[in-house]
Amino acid sequence: MAVVDLHLHTTASDGRLTPPELVELVAKNGVEVFSITDHDSMEGLAAAQEAAKSWPGLTLIPGVELGTEVDEGEIHVLGYFLDTADQGLQQELARLRDGRDGRARRMVERLATLGMPIEWKRVEELAQGGAIARPHVALALVEGGYVSEFQEAFEKYIGRDGPAYVSRDKMTPEEATRLIVRHGGLPVLAHPARYVKNPEGHLPVLKGAGLVGMEVHYKDYTPGEVEELLGLCQKYDLIPTGGTDYHALRTSDEMMPGTAGPPMESVRRLAALAGARGKDMSPALT
Ligand code: AMP
Ligand code: MN
Ligand code: MN
Ligand code: MN
Repeated sequence: MAVVDLHLHTTASDGRLTPPELVELVAKNGVEVFSITDHDSMEGLAAAQEAAKSWPGLTLIPGVELGTEVDEGEIHVLGYFLDTADQGLQQELARLRDGRDGRARRMVERLATLGMPIEWKRVEELAQGGAIARPHVALALVEGGYVSEFQEAFEKYIGRDGPAYVSRDKMTPEEATRLIVRHGGLPVLAHPARYVKNPEGHLPVLKGAGLVGMEVHYKDYTPGEVEELLGLCQKYDLIPTGGTDYHALRTSDEMMPGTAGPPMESVRRLAALAGARGKDMSPALT
């Protein structure tokens, strides 16, 4: 059985392992096909690709995760088989990362007015040069002793309804889907049930925009949830994908790379689509 994990983060965004560290862990866990899907960044992929060469039988699919917003909450869209050499795309991602910077500074200001001064410099350090995201702020809050654990930072302060939450300029999921298609990638809906109540409501529009897949084998989804999402994949002709969404946060509920993911059949279907769009495919994927 091939082990597939198509949703993983590194220090290029809010993951805590560098790309080579993640590649080593993934390989040691017996994963054969994996994707790195950092938030608004493909900056970790070159180092990961280099590291993956040391592990014969390990194949990396380039990926990215885009955060978008609708009235009822957030929707994340994954893009696979995008090109790191696509300058136009990389500029768009850099612009999204810039927006993250100013927004995180505003969150730090809000926290100070709420009596929780954390150093901006520390948040930057925690981000290790990657795209700054709320987990970096959460870690600084833990370090400052303002919360006793990571999750509590989201529950009390920086979750979407929290007093220190600041939004940023976000695309709609339809725009993110079209952006990925425009740059020759494959858009996939991430963790459909994580932040919105009725994911199906968005599927017709996203399918129309070019969505090709949806995460089904995600992290801790129950067999019942998986069954339901597989039904939606059938209904909308979407490829079931998934992964652990590993960030190396070392929280008690974190699942290790390779403990959730789709069957190899899903990888073959994605690779066939990407191949049909002119992408060079590693023989391991076909
Ligand atoms: P951002 O893109 O900066 O808004 O941060 C989003 C990231 O924060 C997600 O990718 C998760 O890693 C993390 N996150 C969001 N909501 C929660 C939550 N309720 N609990 C724990 N982590 C969360
Ligand atoms: Mn994240
Ligand atoms: Mn996400
Ligand atoms: Mn993710």
